[in-house]
Amino acid sequence: MRRFTGDTLLLATHNPGKLEEMTHLLAPYGITVTSAKDHNLPEPAETGTLFVENARIKAHAAAKATGLPALSDDSGIEIDALGKAPGVYTADWAETPTGRDFTMAMTRAHDALEAKSAPFPRTARFCCTLVLAWPDGHDEVFPGVMEGQVVWPMRGNQGHGYDPIFQPEGYDITFGEMDRWEKNRISHRADAFRKLVTIFERG
Ligand code: IMP
Repeated sequence: MRRFTGDTLLLATHNPGKLEEMTHLLAPYGITVTSAKDHNLPEPAETGTLFVENARIKAHAAAKATGLPALSDDSGIEIDALGKAPGVYTADWAETPTGRDFTMAMTRAHDALEAKSAPFPRTARFCCTLVLAWPDGHDEVFPGVMEGQVVWPMRGNQGHGYDPIFQPEGYDITFGEMDRWEKNRISHRADAFRKLVTIFERG
């Protein structure tokens, strides 16, 4: 595995939540962090059918445009009874002409489960794939996952996206009801970051 030996890393995301979380997770490693927004990078079309494909598109586009190593994140929820949908289309299910509506997206997921009379527990997982790409075209991939189930009705307003219908394994509360720091400790993104940071460790 190639190690990260530079001192500046570009975070290839326009999502302020992801940016804050990644900056926080990278803070102990003494790396200077810059963002896609700082460089006025366009958001590339996410044309892949796998998380890793979309994460690669975003990381390589940013690395090529700036000449800096770039880190991207692609994530979503897979619901088993829906054939792992919405998967890479998780954000798309929330799209409306006036912006993203996650209540609509969660209702769509629930309605699809009801239409199939899907048995309980309605198992699902949040997935996160991080890709670190270098300007020479090399990359390293770090997948993370959090298993759980989809519940209804929606519960909690602490998180974002599909958090109010996702109950992680081993808990009787949803991500939407969970303290933010607790969620950030156990989440799919935290899982992927635990793998990523080994390549920043000097020694
Ligand atoms: P993308 O990675 O920007 O394509 O979008 C991923 C989508 O997955 C987000 O818009 C959220 O809807 C959803 N998602 C990813 N991680 C989480 C999470 O931790 N909680 C809730 N929803 C999430």
